[in-house]
Amino acid sequence: MSSGLLVVGGGQAAVQVACSLRESGWQSPITIVGEEVALPYQRPPLSKAFLAGKADADSLALRSDDYFAREGIEVVRGARVTQVTAPGADGTAPGVAVTSGGRAFEFAHLALTVGASPRRLSLSGSDLLGISYLRDLSDAETLKRDLAVAKSVVVIGGGFIGLEAAAVARARGLHVTVLEAADRLIGRVVAPVVSEFYREAHERRGTKVRLGASVVGFEGREGRVTAVELADGTTVPADLVVVGIGVVPRLALAEQLGLECDNGIVVDEYARTSHPAVVAAGDCTTTSHPFAGGARVRLESVQNAVDQAKCAAATIAGRAEPYTSVPWFWSDQDTLKLQIAGLSSGFDTALVRGRPEEEKFSVLYYRDGQLLAVDAVNSPRDYMAVRRALAAGRTIDPERVTDMSTALTPV
Ligand SMILES: Cc1cc2nc3c(=O)[nH]c(=O)nc-3n(C[C@H](O)[C@H](O)[C@H](O)COP(=O)(O)OP(=O)(O)OC[C@H]3O[C@@H](n4cnc5c(N)ncnc54)[C@H](O)[C@@H]3O)c2cc1C
Repeated sequence: MSSGLLVVGGGQAAVQVACSLRESGWQSPITIVGEEVALPYQRPPLSKAFLAGKADADSLALRSDDYFAREGIEVVRGARVTQVTAPGADGTAPGVAVTSGGRAFEFAHLALTVGASPRRLSLSGSDLLGISYLRDLSDAETLKRDLAVAKSVVVIGGGFIGLEAAAVARARGLHVTVLEAADRLIGRVVAPVVSEFYREAHERRGTKVRLGASVVGFEGREGRVTAVELADGTTVPADLVVVGIGVVPRLALAEQLGLECDNGIVVDEYARTSHPAVVAAGDCTTTSHPFAGGARVRLESVQNAVDQAKCAAATIAGRAEPYTSVPWFWSDQDTLKLQIAGLSSGFDTALVRGRPEEEKFSVLYYRDGQLLAVDAVNSPRDYMAVRRALAAGRTIDPERVTDMSTALTPV
């Protein structure tokens, strides 16, 4: 298949690269090689509807087997690529990728869509049974089984995945404690007013939230976790622990190829890496982002995986389509539906619209009077207004944001 495309990784970005190429009429061979055994699937429901037992594994599939067969996209599952060499610069020698099982794939174009791995704890007792991470379907299946018999759950990490898992566990009636090392929840992404809202909202639902809680180890009995030890000398009983402390981009293959990496594979607005035959998309990449004032960011979202993969496909097909999309994201925690548009980092003003105590409000972020982003909790209209304004390169008058009698309109 030396005229074809090899996509390494079988997630959201991988499927989008392949689908977009076929939609554009690209006819060369496409092979997706993914480490996971399941048909490529959506990851967001793993900490939401799937964990809560409201969606089954089959409903998560991004595309059916029939679709891939019809479109001539070969999907090789359960195969991890461990070695890769790039095509020769003169175009005569194809690139070659080899899996851990020794299977080799030749390619003319390579798309790296390898995603990220959960950051792991390495503390005394961290290999005890009952300490789980949540990245893939098999993690979620194990966690769901464990939740069905657990009584006390400790969630380590007050980011989105930890809070979503905490909300599902609490809704099942379990004792839930969230331990966050920083002084507020979701601190990397939202303003203090939103962090405080989430702390109160989870506590209202019966979850204990401990901020500034530094985990130093685990206690266990007969190989299974029984408690989490904190730096202040206290322990929190747990028969199940969920660790959600962020992810690390998978860079091993990019490093083998000598690609530029900086907490992610560095790509430009066309999803091009520093090698002309290699594009990359999704959680494994970092790029100078138009909505971050050109600063380099690594986004972990479906929106980014999909939109960057579309750019990667256009590049492979020989059409340059720059990445200009407005970032967006969502998180569902019990009855709280958070929608985020834009990137708020670097904001100097955060204006609250609506009433957090009614669990329906939004926060609009500005820098130098210019609209940057919105966090909208159960407020889809505000979210859409800001998303549209950002897409049109417009702003929303900050003077009018807090006035609930006027709709948010771009100026
Ligand atoms: C529990 C959870 C909830 C989430 N919720 C949301 C949400 O609400 N909203 C949102 O926008 N985003 C959410 N995300 C993030 C979103 O799912 C990711 O941003 C998105 O899946 C990234 O897609 P990707 O294709 O870049 O990477 P991934 O989906 O991680 O796919 C990468 C794939 O590559 C495979 N792979 C890696 N290395 C190799 C190799 N060497 N050989 C073969 N295969 C390899 C991996 O096994 C994996 O299947 C969530 C993520 C998780 C884990």
